[in-house]
Amino acid sequence: MNSSPATRKRRISILGATGSIGRNTLDVMAHLGGREVFEVPAITGMGNIELLAAQARQTDAKFAVTADLARYHDLKSALAGSGIEVGAGPSALIEAGARDTDLLMAGIVGIAGLAPTLAAVANGANIALANKECLVSAGDLFHEAITKGGGELLPVDSEHNAIFQVLEENQRHAVDRIILTASGGPFRDYTREQMAAVTPETAAAHPNWSMGLKISIDSASMFNKALEMIEARHLFGMRPEQIEVIVHPQSIIHSMVGYTDGSVLAQLGAPDMRHAIGYAIAYPRRASLPVERLDFAKLAQLDFFAPDETRFPALGLARTAMQRGGLQGAVLNGAKEIALEAFIAGQIGFLEMADIVAATMDKLNDGRVALNIDDVYAADREARDVAQSVIANSARIAM
Ligand code: NDP
Ligand code: MG
Repeated sequence: MNSSPATRKRRISILGATGSIGRNTLDVMAHLGGREVFEVPAITGMGNIELLAAQARQTDAKFAVTADLARYHDLKSALAGSGIEVGAGPSALIEAGARDTDLLMAGIVGIAGLAPTLAAVANGANIALANKECLVSAGDLFHEAITKGGGELLPVDSEHNAIFQVLEENQRHAVDRIILTASGGPFRDYTREQMAAVTPETAAAHPNWSMGLKISIDSASMFNKALEMIEARHLFGMRPEQIEVIVHPQSIIHSMVGYTDGSVLAQLGAPDMRHAIGYAIAYPRRASLPVERLDFAKLAQLDFFAPDETRFPALGLARTAMQRGGLQGAVLNGAKEIALEAFIAGQIGFLEMADIVAATMDKLNDGRVALNIDDVYAADREARDVAQSVIANSARIAM
């Protein structure tokens, strides 16, 4: 039964609730009033069943889904007696996305987030988008779907959230450039020789932001920034040459928009994802958030450096992908996932990740475009296969 609009709770579904973005989302929701204020039509996770069940009970979610089909019974028994509906596997994930909601937090990591997020888009939900792979791999399709669905797209990636905050809607025509800030990661000052020898553990230790494993290593290689360049292009309709990256080690300026009159507007804040998440949840209002306030007297200085693309070739690869267009974003992302997994598994060195992605992009540079989501998934699979064979070949040569 629907309660009256004045008392109806705000509905927020959370894809990837057990991850870094998901946990921060639930933290912000608890801070903003929890179950008194919010209803959770659907909540999803994958391997962390215990946490997913606890989150579902805590929020009194209507539908809890693990992406892992084999874990259905584990989740079912963890939620026994709760009355919460349980689902598992890819189709349940899509159903979770499709359930009626006011806002969907897209916090699944990787291309697996695309189909359930598009299901929410098609249902007209507003989307708080953390999953950058959706736009990197399927930017044009995603845009069409948003326009058709009628929901609002609210960027949660901190840089894009910053740009969203300072991009004046009625001055879009006067936007000259977008300047994405990058911390530079743990290897900002390393030589190429030092970078060649780093381990996944040191790569995962981000100096400023606390995030999931993959995105932390992607930050160290700047592949995260590469994905964000492509994400920015799709979110804000920019040409590739309008997207700049500047290394800003303190991560206080989260990004900037430059206008044709020379003005640059920036959004500043403590490096805490609850800021961008809270902004998306409260939008179009601003909520009171439990994030640290900046004390400018204590901020000794803000530094800026041009990124070194010989040590961080990922940025150049993003530009290539944007210029080539079509499915090259999906290829870059798919190849990057395989290279990242190979690095985490100790099969390849840190710098080889970019070589593998470059070789895969060149091999699959055939001008194809995505007509539907299946084309995107096919390009992703093909890129993964090609990247695997590039890794296998280079291992053979090294033997
Ligand atoms: P995490 O690895 O911390 O969490 C990922 C979430 O997705 C978990 O709930 C995980 O479940 C679930 N998951 C993992 N694999 C699959 C799959 N194949 N199918 C369905 N669900 C899956 O990632 P983050 O929270 O760090 O990142 C989420 C997204 O947000 C990424 O796209 C990232 O780039 C983006 N982002 C993250 C930021 C951050 O601060 N963390 C900042 C900006 C963007 P389980 O843990 O139960 O296995
Ligand atoms: Mg970011």
